[in-house]
Amino acid sequence: MQLYCNSLTAYGRLKTREVKIGSLLLGNLHPVRVQTMTTTDTMDTIATVEQTIRCIEAGAELVRITAPSKKDAENLLHIKNELHKRGYTTPLVADIHFTPNAAEIAARIVEKVRVNPGNYVDKKKFEQIEYTDAEYAEEIDRIRDRFTPLVKICKEYGTAMRIGTNHGSLSDRIMSRYGDTPMGMVESAMEFLRIARNESYHNIVLSMKASNTLVMVQAYRLLVNTMFEEFGEIYPLHLGVTEAGDGEDGRIKSAVGIGTLMEDGLGDTIRVSLTEDPEFEIPVCKDLVKRYENREHHSPIADLLQKIKSTVNRQPSTDESSSVSPQRLTLPYNPFEYKRRITHEVNNIGGTLVPVVVADFMQKEKINAADLKAIGYSYDAATDKWNIGDSAADYIYTANKTLDFHLPGTLKIICNAKTWIEAKNSPAFGESWGESVFPLFEGVDYLDIPEKSSRQNFIAIDVHAIDKEIKERIFDQVATDVTAVLCLYSSNKHSMADVRRNMIELVERNIKAPVIICVESHCASVDEQLIEFSAEAGALLLDGFGDGIWLMNDPQKMSNTRVSGRNYIAVANNHQFLNTTSFSVLQATRTRISKTEYISCPSCGRTLFELQETTAKIRAVTNHLKGVKIAIMGCIVNGPGEMADADFGYVGSGVGKITLYKGKEVIKRNVDSNVAVDELINLIKDYGAWIEPLSSKGELMP
Ligand code: SF4
Repeated sequence: MQLYCNSLTAYGRLKTREVKIGSLLLGNLHPVRVQTMTTTDTMDTIATVEQTIRCIEAGAELVRITAPSKKDAENLLHIKNELHKRGYTTPLVADIHFTPNAAEIAARIVEKVRVNPGNYVDKKKFEQIEYTDAEYAEEIDRIRDRFTPLVKICKEYGTAMRIGTNHGSLSDRIMSRYGDTPMGMVESAMEFLRIARNESYHNIVLSMKASNTLVMVQAYRLLVNTMFEEFGEIYPLHLGVTEAGDGEDGRIKSAVGIGTLMEDGLGDTIRVSLTEDPEFEIPVCKDLVKRYENREHHSPIADLLQKIKSTVNRQPSTDESSSVSPQRLTLPYNPFEYKRRITHEVNNIGGTLVPVVVADFMQKEKINAADLKAIGYSYDAATDKWNIGDSAADYIYTANKTLDFHLPGTLKIICNAKTWIEAKNSPAFGESWGESVFPLFEGVDYLDIPEKSSRQNFIAIDVHAIDKEIKERIFDQVATDVTAVLCLYSSNKHSMADVRRNMIELVERNIKAPVIICVESHCASVDEQLIEFSAEAGALLLDGFGDGIWLMNDPQKMSNTRVSGRNYIAVANNHQFLNTTSFSVLQATRTRISKTEYISCPSCGRTLFELQETTAKIRAVTNHLKGVKIAIMGCIVNGPGEMADADFGYVGSGVGKITLYKGKEVIKRNVDSNVAVDELINLIKDYGAWIEPLSSKGELMP
């Protein structure tokens, strides 16, 4: 198997071709550039100029503007001139869908054009067509004829280009041959890239965006692999998760997708697509980029090559300076296809069970029943019952404390081994002690257990700090211990890769003990913590590693307010923050679904309604529909294609008009926007996906 990055253990940016966008250099190890996209009407020159300036002042190094028609494309000249007049020369990018004529105009004006290979030439009709090889080749000729003029203009004017594939808008031709797959996304871009290369045009950036983080990560990896195999070199990558939504969920989903790739050194430019004003995307981008500054100086991680039988097959490169040095490794997992690591079940962890969430109460001096509200359990004294939310933690870590009240049946305790032995005599547990309280051993202590649980034992290991020989002995013992659950973390600066390397070792050694991924953040802001938790835990979960998640921080060291975004949210309860983040990371990796999923576009000049307000309105009435995917898309031109695998779609189809979808099928056309949210609820009811919301006491709402 060929790698998609320089190394899975030693951090290093992937070297790509250098691309020039106006005066901005991108790729070839230049800093990762951050960018965003305006949401104004492109024909409104002043509004677009002013929003562009807000983005630039926030730190955008590129600003994209939609050009849905020839008129809009022509107006880019006025926008550019006005920006220059005001002293702003940041490169502009024209965003093109369906309109080659607009692209050819824009390419003469702005520094870069983005084309979507799924709809540049093809019109999407959602048809399944069987092509013979000859017919398929004819289709490629048709694309060449329509695309080559743009390539020639870009060459002549020194304009850069992004070939930007979106998972949701693959052409019928690609869908018919490759299906709705990462390989289909890659091939969609490669068809255009081959045409451009034949014209000796190389000022190209590529993207493989999807709202499904797993599809997105696999597509980028596959693209790198395919480009290197075919050309012996890599073009720069623009990373992004589409329709990520807003608030915490949008940030977490973006950080899971983009962060997973950046952990392995991929990415030359990034955009975080939020359903918020575009300038709010920039601080999130910057927080992501900051994580990898000086990462290459991390302590060494034992090379995978030492552990894994490898056959080095150095590929000849046409241009050494712009190539990676891929080595064929026989990895015991496939980074291009999701498969969860095989583990056995220990109590309710591992096997095919959803990953568990551990709530860390180590720093709480005294834990009361009311504290459990923050992690999804509220006690109703009148009925003497616990109400359990959809995002209720599975375990609570108490360190050296025991509890003096009865727990809800679905919540179990992990405490330090010494405390666990003492807890035997606690009146709170009595007979149920062995069923609901389990010991945690710190690394080496596990090798010398005076007493252990017959059902479940947790073993915490800092895989970086632990003596290697001791770790080997622990792994040897865990291999035959059907009660063992490993809790792995690393104090190495490149911690995700360090934990992943140990996961790979477990697979290699056929050790089937479940693993809880532990991430401790020392970041000072809530935003940075969200990103750290998402990137580190998300990257492992997307590769099928991890049977649980355990997030930790030090609330004393953290400023407890959100520093970016339209919502200035105080983190009133750190336990709630960690619990919500844990469930959101699992949701973003689709490993455990605990809430409604919103696929909302970031909006742009095509948007036909107030997207942020409408998203909030829909969220307020549907956020109890666990597992239902609802898309809220600004326009009917791109919306239906881009909403990917949503169950229901709410799509702007005209001024004050909404078209409602079940999957890809139109159910109600041009509904008055005043009643469209109610109609969406009716549609969800018609298809049996609606449930009535419950009050906080677990009763049906009146
Ligand atoms: S779906 Fe949204 S972001 Fe995409 S083109 Fe339409 S309005 Fe713009």
